[in-house]
Amino acid sequence: MAPETPRIYVDLDDVLCETARAFLGILERDYGKTVDFEDIAWFDLGRSFDLEPPVLEDFMRKVHEPEVLSAMESVEGAIEALEEWVEAGYEVAVVTGRPSTTYDVSREWLASAGVPHQSLTFVDKYSRLGWSNDGPKVVPLSELGRTEYCLAVEDSSDMAQYLAGELGLQVLLFDRPWNRRPPPAVGSEATGEIHRCRNWREIAERFPRP
Ligand SMILES: [Mg+2]
Repeated sequence: MAPETPRIYVDLDDVLCETARAFLGILERDYGKTVDFEDIAWFDLGRSFDLEPPVLEDFMRKVHEPEVLSAMESVEGAIEALEEWVEAGYEVAVVTGRPSTTYDVSREWLASAGVPHQSLTFVDKYSRLGWSNDGPKVVPLSELGRTEYCLAVEDSSDMAQYLAGELGLQVLLFDRPWNRRPPPAVGSEATGEIHRCRNWREIAERFPRP
């Protein structure tokens, strides 16, 4: 049997597309709040944007509307870096924690942005209450380990820690203001590691053959 193609896990929001920047636009337009990108200090947007739970819920629903998601910019250098991996014989698996209601628009965005990928998987990464994250298309976090990956690219510190600590993966933490503090610690018996990378150019240079 031919060996399986090595597979790379690539997160979608704020790794492939500029999600937080789009969210800031909605925050200003619909909620009259101006927050600088560099001041998004927490992955928890309620905390970063100082939104009470009911307002946050409304905000999260609004930013996941198709017209917001489909208008997002791709992250600089991402497509070129993925193209190089695919050319070198890797499979790109996009793994997102978005609500499953965004399945169609997410697929369409990946296609129209020209993101080379072999799969798109919805995983219940954050156990967000009230999200439609229990649909048939959504993989529970506990089942993520059934798929083999040789590398993962993530911007969530918690997910990076899970991938390195629980699944033993090499993880590239895509540098963002909300993942700079404190550096995620990986258990001493874990086989995975977390490397912080500033951008896709750096990833392509440091990990041409992960
Ligand atoms: Mg993300």
